[in-house]
Amino acid sequence: MSDRITLATWPTPLEPMPRLAAALGLGEDDLWVKRDDLIGLGGGGNKVRKLEWTLGAALAEGADTLVTTGAAQSNHARLTAAAGARAGLDVVLVLPGTAAEAAQGSGNLVLDSLFGARIHWAGDGDPGTLGQAAEEVCARLRLGGARPYAIPFGGSSPLGARGYVDGGEELLGQLPDVRHVVVALGSGGTMAGLIGALGQERVLGVHCGAVTDPVGTVAALVTELTRRPAAPGSLRIRTDQVGAGYGTLHEPVLEAMRTAATTEGIVLDPVYSGRALAGLIAAVRDGGIRRGERTVLLHTGGLPGLFGHTETVRRTVAALRPHSSG
Ligand SMILES: *Cc1c(COP(=O)(O)O)cnc(C)c1O
Repeated sequence: MSDRITLATWPTPLEPMPRLAAALGLGEDDLWVKRDDLIGLGGGGNKVRKLEWTLGAALAEGADTLVTTGAAQSNHARLTAAAGARAGLDVVLVLPGTAAEAAQGSGNLVLDSLFGARIHWAGDGDPGTLGQAAEEVCARLRLGGARPYAIPFGGSSPLGARGYVDGGEELLGQLPDVRHVVVALGSGGTMAGLIGALGQERVLGVHCGAVTDPVGTVAALVTELTRRPAAPGSLRIRTDQVGAGYGTLHEPVLEAMRTAATTEGIVLDPVYSGRALAGLIAAVRDGGIRRGERTVLLHTGGLPGLFGHTETVRRTVAALRPHSSG
């Protein structure tokens, strides 16, 4: 249907995590991390693989402006801004909140600004309103003579999800006997694409609370992507790491972040990749993942969001360990 463009250097590294594996009670070479956080565009993260497809389509259509939506700390919005800069396209981000609130902002907003994106502040942040606000932004851009291209929330169209069919195939080339791939489930495109490459049995999604119906969302994307009906009942999705909701700090997630950081020097984020590891740890505890089974944690990025997450910043700084030499 369209041509993928190249936005980064592939493949991303796949690294063994023996100390993290031992901390979890797994064998030394059972656990690997696929470093999509190290994708070399815009601070890295999983949204770049999807943008290679959606930007390809935008350029093929002759678009000059990208329009997308997300939370104020959206990694997808930040990476759309970076990809637009790389491709020479204008970018308008439709974000919840107001300019006054954003003046207190940090994390991804710092990078959105550096990449030169323009922000349309949509006020009240219900996802439904954001989609409508994005349509209005596109209509106004067209009236002004621009050629906008709208990318859905999280970049998770069936086209965008093809980026993770690529990602899954890349991983199979690195670790053919992979048994489990554990991934944070936000808008669902990453999990759906991985299933396209690896099948339903090998992909474990950890719901982050970003959508109301994670099973239906992923099943619909898989069906469109593979042109075969997905079996929603056999999708492996954990919903036990949402806690008080999307964007909140869930205690086992902070624990998981500390474990990854202290055993391997790897930084996860409180909204997505930390939830993925917390779900992996829970799966080891309840027998869903066993010793001797090759397991990959997909590191989807999110580091800028960590610094924009007030509660995580407060909790971790409060826990700084004093050293007294006396
Ligand atoms: C968006 C995002 C995810 C989830 O990916 P989806 O394709 O939206 O499900 C996971 N981790 C990070 C850091 C993200 O930004």
